[in-house]
Amino acid sequence: MRSFSGKGVCGGIAIGRISVLRHSDAKVTRVKITDTEAELERFENARKQAIDELCRLYEKAIPEVGEAGAQIFDIHRMMLEDDDYRESVRSMIERQQINAEYATALTADNFEAMFGAMEDSYMQARAADVRDISNRLIRVLSGVSETEQLAGGKLIICADDLAPSETVALDKSRVLAFVTANGSANSHTAILARSMNIPAVIGLGEAFLASVRDGETAIVNGQTGEVIVSPDEAATDEAKKKLADDMAARQLLEDLRGKKNITRDGTQIQIYANIGSVENIGAVLLNDAGGIGLFRSEFIYLESRDFPSEEEQFAIYKRVLESMADKKVIIRTLDIGADKQAGYFGLEKEENPALGLRAIRICLTRPEIFITQLRALYRASVYGNLGIMFPMITSVTETARVLEYCHEVRQTLIAENIPVSDSVELGIMIETPAAAVISDRLAPMVDFFSVGTNDLIQYTLACDRQNQRLEEFCDTHHEAVLRLIEYAAKSAHSHGKWIGICGELAADLTLTETFLKMGIDELSVSPPYVLKLRDTVRKTDLRS
Ligand code: PEP
Ligand code: MG
Repeated sequence: MRSFSGKGVCGGIAIGRISVLRHSDAKVTRVKITDTEAELERFENARKQAIDELCRLYEKAIPEVGEAGAQIFDIHRMMLEDDDYRESVRSMIERQQINAEYATALTADNFEAMFGAMEDSYMQARAADVRDISNRLIRVLSGVSETEQLAGGKLIICADDLAPSETVALDKSRVLAFVTANGSANSHTAILARSMNIPAVIGLGEAFLASVRDGETAIVNGQTGEVIVSPDEAATDEAKKKLADDMAARQLLEDLRGKKNITRDGTQIQIYANIGSVENIGAVLLNDAGGIGLFRSEFIYLESRDFPSEEEQFAIYKRVLESMADKKVIIRTLDIGADKQAGYFGLEKEENPALGLRAIRICLTRPEIFITQLRALYRASVYGNLGIMFPMITSVTETARVLEYCHEVRQTLIAENIPVSDSVELGIMIETPAAAVISDRLAPMVDFFSVGTNDLIQYTLACDRQNQRLEEFCDTHHEAVLRLIEYAAKSAHSHGKWIGICGELAADLTLTETFLKMGIDELSVSPPYVLKLRDTVRKTDLRS
């Protein structure tokens, strides 16, 4: 047993064999297909073959690298069986009439980008896995047989330092850890390791490099910077225990994945997720949300220096819809103003901005902005299951004007021979007391309601949501607020429409039973709350 000490740049424990691997990604071209059914079948066959390959690899790797080392093949198999991934490819083949290879490569790009952008660095590492399973599928689709030598399974990449080109070329799904003799905390090795959440230790020195051989077992502790080569039994046991603790924490969450949002007495609801950016989609899928209940599109404007163009918006909406396959994606139109200000809008300073020119009021007074967004949304509508939602509605007249814009934009696009979906749901937010009180008049006009409790509370209780000193006066469970929600639910249902809640109150687990009793059909919460909410729903019994 030999111990070395370097600088840990990315935490976590890795146990495995030392080596260096290189890999180059396959190139794919786009082909227009005519027989969608045949292409879907080709994709399904390739998927099955890839799954079989991975099962064989898993069995083969266990005696060579142990359970932990072989696990990557099992994870890849599960990813190939994952509905989100599968549906994304299938939906692209169907909707865009493209070949399975290209749809797989596009899905890989989308998923890789969204996982890569996630805050949880463990999940960022899944980007590499998505790329890897996609490359496997593309290879199978291209009729190339497996030539990989997988005797090593996942490996600890050991090097002097890794050049950016080498790092990029690595088959990241096989990297268990990085250890380098040189390098800085900002070297590509370190950056890549952090983004993939792969344990990494740098600066171990030339003596380390000179002493290690290919195939030797090592334990890497990315936190302390310690690397043990040829560890004894005690060191191995200790490292295995640390690894197991890590896995157990993740497992708790995993157990609720794939389960229904159903109460003990059989009432089922939808649990969707709220996002502010396309980069949050990874978290949506990771937490197994049934769809996106609120995409706050104003963040696209807030992150921009000037009005985002139709093309820019179209690209974003398309990516969200494609990534979510056929799951519902509700995009809320621009809700700028009040606390969300973008200088280039040139909005005048207001005495009471929360009661001022914001959200739909801006869209209705500056229709060129609204129309650009609606065009982008309708153009993207053919790429998935879109719902459009309008914020800060207070009246029947506003709703009628909004719907008229939607109708006009749709007709214009059709006249321009641009494909648009004919099943886009149009809904309004119930976030002003006025909208809740006249919800019986608004319900027949739209497809759904979504209650924005953040604003509904502020406007009902006259409590500025930005003012922390008002906390003691701002009773989020106030009877007035709950009655407004209940009334909106009754109005929606009596016209055969569905109603959700997308404000923060949706994640208040002490109200879940109340909302279920009101008949709320959908709750949309931040991605990390999805499974916690599912857990509460599943423990609720509306008979008691
Ligand atoms: C709300 O008001 O509850 C809501 C969801 O919208 P926002 O928080 O973006 O105002
Ligand atoms: Mg709001």
